[in-house]
Amino acid sequence: MIAAWQDIVRKEIEAGTGALIGMSVDQRGMRTALRIWFADLDERRGPFVELKPHGLKGYRATLGFGTFAGEIVRQIQRAGEEDVQLAQALVDSLAPDVELDLFGQERGQWRVHSGSFRLTATLRKTTESSDEAVARVSRDVVVPLMAAMAELIGYDLVEEDEGASSSEEGAILLATVRRRERNPRNRLLCIRLHGERCLCCGMEPRKLYGDAGDILEVHHLEALSLLAVPRPYDPGKDLAPLCPNCHRAVHTRRPVPLDLDDVRTFMEAAQNEHGPL
Ligand SMILES: [Zn+2]
Ligand SMILES: [Zn+2]
Repeated sequence: MIAAWQDIVRKEIEAGTGALIGMSVDQRGMRTALRIWFADLDERRGPFVELKPHGLKGYRATLGFGTFAGEIVRQIQRAGEEDVQLAQALVDSLAPDVELDLFGQERGQWRVHSGSFRLTATLRKTTESSDEAVARVSRDVVVPLMAAMAELIGYDLVEEDEGASSSEEGAILLATVRRRERNPRNRLLCIRLHGERCLCCGMEPRKLYGDAGDILEVHHLEALSLLAVPRPYDPGKDLAPLCPNCHRAVHTRRPVPLDLDDVRTFMEAAQNEHGPL
């Protein structure tokens, strides 16, 4: 049982952050405590999240930095504006019943100024069993917190050469769109904000494929208007979760993808002609 939820927690954190994680579980007493860090940095050289029982059936996650995290903190301070914005949006996506304490910093404006950065997120009075509660708090709190740190550190964003060599505005935009669509932290935020269903056809892959249903993709909306009227990137509004089929369908028009409304219209017309699937 315990091994089972540990695997789930690990899988969800690694999928959401795009990084390998290390984890220790403390099973003393009736309730479980958990400590999570990025495997390549270990506990001392990077950020960690510690999840502990708090009060009556509650849990508190503390995000902090290890003793020797100076180098990674400097790397975080060099993070671009878009990374900072996404990290803040991920922390902001915590459910309203999670109490967030940023130790004097503002929600949506916080920065990591030094290794003494600290944040706590507290969920009070969970109702399920200890294992279930830890699994849920991990998903709802630990995953977005670690994803925020992964974004600031800049894990694994593999840039592809395709298009990047061209300095044309359109090519740069397309490269940006592609990078945003492939960023696992954008995907996490997108699903947290919109729910785990395709925004185009309504398909819920978990209901269809069960444990093999972690297949939603991120689509970047309105790439063209972004080129015409540049405005700040807003991951909450600019991204949509789509099932792989709808995502392919949207990108059948190039270079500017179809609107979701267009695809829905095509789907309706096709169903009127051929009957429902
Ligand atoms: Zn779909
Ligand atoms: Zn797309």
